[in-house]
Parts: sequence; C-alpha cells; structure tokens
Amino acid sequence: MRKQIAAANWKMNLTYQLGEKLLNDILEAEIAISDNQQVIFAVPFPYLIMAKSTVAHEKGYDIAAQNCSDKKNGAYTGEVSVEMLQSVGIKYIIIGHSERREYFFETNKTLADKVNICLENDITPIFCCGEALSVREKNGQNDYVQKQLEESLFHLDQDKIINVVIAYEPIWAIGTGKTASTQQAQEMHQYLRSVLANKYGHEIADQISILYGGSVKANNASELFSCPDVDGGLVGGASLVAQDFIQIIKALK
Ligand code: PEP
Repeated sequence: MRKQIAAANWKMNLTYQLGEKLLNDILEAEIAISDNQQVIFAVPFPYLIMAKSTVAHEKGYDIAAQNCSDKKNGAYTGEVSVEMLQSVGIKYIIIGHSERREYFFETNKTLADKVNICLENDITPIFCCGEALSVREKNGQNDYVQKQLEESLFHLDQDKIINVVIAYEPIWAIGTGKTASTQQAQEMHQYLRSVLANKYGHEIADQISILYGGSVKANNASELFSCPDVDGGLVGGASLVAQDFIQIIKALK
C-alpha cells in the first residue's frame, strides 16, 4: 500500500526558535500516525539537525531539506550537497519546487541530476511538478506535466522510480488561496498515475505516492485527500500554524 504523506514546506519562514516551538506544538497533539502514513517537515537548512532530533523518537515523523545542489561536491560556495544532507540523517529532499524553477531557473535537466544524486544517496526526492495558469487556460496541463516527468524522472529504472514521491502543485494554486477542485486534483493525479503505468506498469505506478500541493488548508484537506489518487499533500502556508497542520495530518487517509 502506498504511503499517505503530509509534508510541510516552511520555505524561508520562521526563526529557529519559532520553528522549534511549532514542531513541539504539533508533536504535543500526539496524533496517532498509522504505518501507511508519514509526516514530513521540510525546514530551512540551519534547522535540519534541531528538527531531526526533535522528531527522532516520534513514529511516522521525519524531516526534509527544501533543496540541494546538483553537484556532488567541490568548489561551489554556498551550495549544500546531498551527501552533506545524508550525513546529518536526512531522508527526503524537495526537488524542483516551482519557486526554484521560477526564481532560480532550475530546468528539468538540472532536476534530473538532483534526483539521481538523491537516489544514489538513498534519499527520497519529493519531486514537484505542475503547470502555470496560462498553460491550464489552454488546457495544456497534461502534456506539460507529463514532459516534466519524462525529462526529470523517466530515465530511472523501476527499482529507482519506486523511491520517488511526486507532488503535483499547480502554480496557480500555490500561495494564492485558489485550490484546485477535488475534480481537477483527481483528474491530474489519475492522469499522472496512468503516465507512470504506461512507462513502468500498473504495479509500480500504484506504489508511488502522488501528493497534491496548492493552498491545502485545514478546511479542504479531507476532501482533497479523499480522492483515490491523491496520497496527501505538500503544504506551504497552512503548515506554519500548528492547529492548521494538525488538522491536515488528521485528514490523511
Ligand atoms: C508549497 O509551498 O508547496 C505550497 C503548496 O504552498 P501553499 O500551501 O501555501 O499554497
């Protein structure tokens, strides 16, 4: 059975102290996390070790980095390598968030390199894809997102793709308060699963978690997560408020 995942993306928000308090407030809620569920906090680099030790003994909780270098190591001042992240116990990295694609010009090719380095280091990439509003208005979203998968993931063998988590995040819904309808979310997730099935077969496609991201809130999470092909969410704004994220975790199937 594929994992149902609630992933918080703090982006460049919160101080160390506020981040630590937020984690503790959420853990104090003592939410029962079942074996097929996973809660992940993608926190800023300087908070990774604190966050990792805060959730260390909590079943079903783990920490992600929000990005990594596409280079393995060397003279790249300011970059953080996958190997460094692995050496502090990180198991998940968000790859290709639309903000990185837009503001830092990350291409499908660069993201393929990052995915490869993650998998070489036993780290699960949370691979983000999704179309801009202009693409959806022309009904081009399926082809657009398929191309993102083809160019960044489809060089992987079956035994590698199985270790990738996909997050479908329509750009027009991120941080805008506009959520995809449950029908729009389910249609795209089902489409992505069919694209995965065409390439890797149904058995593999059925094991890959596909998260929805884009203005997931406490009051819409249950409806979105109830879609058969939506396996949880990647959550920005609402993950910064303990009570909201607690509700979102509780909404997991
Ligand atoms: C995100 O950062 O990936 C995201 C989906 O943000 P928000 O939930 O704020 O739309």
